[in-house]
Amino acid sequence: MSKRIALTVDLEPDWGVRGTRALREITPRFLRFLEERRMRATFFVVSDLMDSSGEVMAALAERHEIASHGRSHRALDGLDRADALRELTESRRRLRQCGKEVEGFRAPFFRRCAGFSRLLREAGYRYDASLGSVVPGPVNGRLDSLPCPFRLGPTYEFPTSAMGGGLLPLSLTWLRLLAPLAGRLLQRSASLLYLHLHEFLPAETASVLPAPLRPVLTRNCGEAAWGILDEALEALDGEFVTCSEILNDSEEPARTATELR
Ligand SMILES: [Zn+2]
Repeated sequence: MSKRIALTVDLEPDWGVRGTRALREITPRFLRFLEERRMRATFFVVSDLMDSSGEVMAALAERHEIASHGRSHRALDGLDRADALRELTESRRRLRQCGKEVEGFRAPFFRRCAGFSRLLREAGYRYDASLGSVVPGPVNGRLDSLPCPFRLGPTYEFPTSAMGGGLLPLSLTWLRLLAPLAGRLLQRSASLLYLHLHEFLPAETASVLPAPLRPVLTRNCGEAAWGILDEALEALDGEFVTCSEILNDSEEPARTATELR
């Protein structure tokens, strides 16, 4: 059996700032893309998007996992404890209206706040996927060397994987930036891939970003991003599934062993 890899998608305002074009225009095609390849994904969704697009979210929840990416895509480390907890609890409550349990959380920008693990438990989450980085550095290799998932007290962590000898996060952003070389930078150790739906939007939608960031973040975005993602998924040669599916399978042996004792 091929290795299981968590396919994780952040669904947030366009380029993490504002606008819902990705949600409205990219989601249907992305769902077809996954269905054609028999893949399932975990969507980390900013729950405020439910206000305008409840039915898109319900379609997504039919085959895939919905997890939380906060209520408003605010960085948790800039909030006081009460506001950070509200981001976790309120987003979970809102996303459960899709009719499915919401078990996972990913902090916007991978920025966790003080006491984050406690807030996670208080808000009722089963796992977190916020151990990651968006920039190059040795931290990516260190995260890649951890088991995915691993247990941290009563909850679980899904750290990001790396590419490029452990220096880069395994994300569509870096695959796009380094295409056509990206294929050669993939690593066999990959357990998790992350991407954003706004990466499939045409470059002009990035006008919401500060000007110096636009050319960097939009390289090979739009139509080119589909081909780059497709090639990477094929090269990684795994079975792409949700975080919850991986967690359910990895938990079983431990639970049985305890019961037998
Ligand atoms: Zn985000």
